[in-house]
Amino acid sequence: MAQLSDDCFAFGGALLPLAQAQAEIAARFRPVTGIESVPVRDAVGRVLASDVTASIDLPPQMNSAVDGYAFRHTDLRSDGPTTLALQGRTAAGQRPAAVAGGHASRIFTGAVMPHGLDTVMMQEDCAATDSSVILQPGLKRGANARPAGEDIAKGARALPMGRRLTPVDLALIAGLGLARVPVRMPLRVVVFSTGDELVDPPGPLPPGRIYDANRAMLLGLLARLGAIGEDGGILPDRTDATEAALRKAAGRCDLILTSGGVSTGEEDHVRAAVEASGQLAFWRVAIKPGRPVALGEVGGVPLVGLPGNPVAALVTFSVVARPLFDRLAGATYLPPPRLLAEAAFGYRKKVGRVEFVRVSCDADGRAHRYPKEGAGIITSLTESDALMQLPEEMTELSPGNVAPIIPLGLLYG
Ligand code: AMP
Ligand code: MG
Repeated sequence: MAQLSDDCFAFGGALLPLAQAQAEIAARFRPVTGIESVPVRDAVGRVLASDVTASIDLPPQMNSAVDGYAFRHTDLRSDGPTTLALQGRTAAGQRPAAVAGGHASRIFTGAVMPHGLDTVMMQEDCAATDSSVILQPGLKRGANARPAGEDIAKGARALPMGRRLTPVDLALIAGLGLARVPVRMPLRVVVFSTGDELVDPPGPLPPGRIYDANRAMLLGLLARLGAIGEDGGILPDRTDATEAALRKAAGRCDLILTSGGVSTGEEDHVRAAVEASGQLAFWRVAIKPGRPVALGEVGGVPLVGLPGNPVAALVTFSVVARPLFDRLAGATYLPPPRLLAEAAFGYRKKVGRVEFVRVSCDADGRAHRYPKEGAGIITSLTESDALMQLPEEMTELSPGNVAPIIPLGLLYG
């Protein structure tokens, strides 16, 4: 199903602002994956296909948060100790004891509160005998008691459709009594590398050649996102061969990712192949690293052409391919949460583009720039903590300035 059908979205050679690229992706693409029901224990990382609504109060009944003595708050004196006769004992899982007015009752963590009692004093704070308990003044009404629905009330939305489920989401779903959840089927993605210099590890390395690093990274990123990633291999620097491979791949997947070959050079054949056999929406985005990043469609299947340098490939995957991936997969793309760090370095940049600077944070939370700048330096990623994101309008960052950082781990699914 072609999703890029009409064309005012053809940006030609203009540098497209990143926010606009992301907005166009959200507006123009739709989820393509089907829906299945899976056991909750198998659902981590899957994309929720509908809202989860609480069909019960959680917790279902008011219960004690501690081991101690339950009582009516109105029976507690404010001017000194209160002695109450004891009646009944309730442990977790038992029916609550019946307790007459003016009495306290032995209670344990997780036990349902006896009818009419509203407050619990921890056993460490009480002096008790078999028949009575001495309570100290000062507790607020409701202390150490967990009201029904305190966690989430019956009828409220517990989790939104489009959420990629985390282990704690599974705790909430199971806590609400569900054994299965509706999730999206995995997106099928074919990943190609392009370039006559590339060799598959561990083959011999002739002069002038390098090992393909990007496919391993991209397939790893896709695995973390719950996709079915297919290794499409290495494409030569030839437009006809590239075109044929892309057309063939379009018949068996929901998204095509390539790396390399999208710049302006004579040897950049991906862009030419997409233009020849499909449509190109844009191929230049105002970011660094990664300015050449193409979005198009071949045989009705969306394609993102990432730049060849591994650092640029990671950045463009994260800010361009990932929003598209999420959209197609039925997931809600959420930009990483805004975390701030103080720069320990100065930096000048061009106005009009977003720059991502590799940094590591010291014990005081100050961000230090990775000493080497090249977009091909893989160790700059393995040895950094985060990307500092510098906005379009900024031209200079001074030591001591505070700027947003994206921990690299957040980009890895
Ligand atoms: P390109 O985007 O094709 O101009 O490539 C830019 C740089 O990235 C060149 O130095 C390429 O050799 C390098 N490169 C391209 N693809 C890969 C890859 N899969 N693994 C490692 N380096 C690559
Ligand atoms: Mg190349």
